[in-house]
Amino acid sequence: MIKQLLLFYFFINGGFLFAQLDFAKNIIADLSSEEFHGRGYVNDGDTRAADYIANLYEKLGAQKLGSSYFQDFTFGVNTFPDTVRITVDGKDLITGVDYIVDPATPSINKSYELVYCPPSGWNTVPKLHVGRNDVCFVFDAGKTKDKDSLKLMASYMRQANTIAPVIRIQDTKLTWSVATELRDRALIEVLRDRWDTTAKRIHLNIHASFKAKHTARNVVGLIPGKNKKKFVVVTAHYDHLGRMGSSTYFPGANDNAAGTAQLLNLMKFYSQNQPKYSIVFIAFAAEEAGLIGSKYFVGNPLIDLKKIRFLINLDIMGTGEEGITVVNATKHKKEFGLLQKINDDKKYLVQVKARGEAANSDHYWFTQMGVPAFFMYTMGGSKAYHDVNDKIENLSFSEFEDIASLLRDFIQRL
Ligand SMILES: [Zn+2]
Repeated sequence: MIKQLLLFYFFINGGFLFAQLDFAKNIIADLSSEEFHGRGYVNDGDTRAADYIANLYEKLGAQKLGSSYFQDFTFGVNTFPDTVRITVDGKDLITGVDYIVDPATPSINKSYELVYCPPSGWNTVPKLHVGRNDVCFVFDAGKTKDKDSLKLMASYMRQANTIAPVIRIQDTKLTWSVATELRDRALIEVLRDRWDTTAKRIHLNIHASFKAKHTARNVVGLIPGKNKKKFVVVTAHYDHLGRMGSSTYFPGANDNAAGTAQLLNLMKFYSQNQPKYSIVFIAFAAEEAGLIGSKYFVGNPLIDLKKIRFLINLDIMGTGEEGITVVNATKHKKEFGLLQKINDDKKYLVQVKARGEAANSDHYWFTQMGVPAFFMYTMGGSKAYHDVNDKIENLSFSEFEDIASLLRDFIQRL
């Protein structure tokens, strides 16, 4: 890794002209490597990523808005720094592949008898076991697809989980997240084809460490434009989900090392080509923990929010075979029309799809404050999302350069 980084810096400092895609791929390879621990909350993964990004801001000549590129804030977060081991009838399951631990799960090291809750017994089975502290419930919807039944199961499962650990058998892919508080008991999601339905005992050995006051940092830099009174803001979150024990980390190549690389790619371009408006670049922390970094920025803005001509938030930027979706398109019809016109004229992407408002990424708090903003994400290609397969080798990068061109044209014509 160090060798790779040195080589990379040599390229920038040496002034070699090399393709923007290589520049971006290097960044994504670094940020999604194990050295960054899934850019979460074990082994300072998120802080390492912040340092790495700030280093690139410096190399690219971005200005600071204060004494440093960092804007610090604190929040509580649950982490799994070392032991995460689940053994079923003496056989270990594979962490992140066979199962995931719900992110709010507390520490536990104990053996249990497995008690199955099939559809007919979702409520009755846990009731029969009230008062016992040596059972772990297995909730399995089986072939049930009925939405009301599944809702009922979810509510019984929540009740059962207040008295005992719960295993939930999953048919769809495992999708992890980040928790800012602890639940009462362990909740584990296991893939159906990895679960032996005749299993009798389970040992849960999970070390959770709740950090009540974790410090995270937004990374903010500016490239001055010809018009210094108004700003265009480009944002992308750089945090991801972190580690699930010592052997499993979540790379987050598409979500959102790719968007971070696109942000840096644009910074690189504007550092060599003065933009029309001054451009503020914000790599946000703690997006996956609940849009915490962007909320903090909007509450403690480093620029006057009223002077933002437009904000573009980039997430999941590694593919694009089916084009991009633009959140807030229906809210800002004029700008969306401009974006579509550019795309129609230049034939960059197969589709620029309109979507309404959505509270699904960092643009949200800005939208709430009346700042005009789009949130863009790519469609098509890799299906990996919030799982151990979100790796650089699964990304096509098919539209990475086209998206950069579309954004540059759009920013120029705002
Ligand atoms: Zn994301």
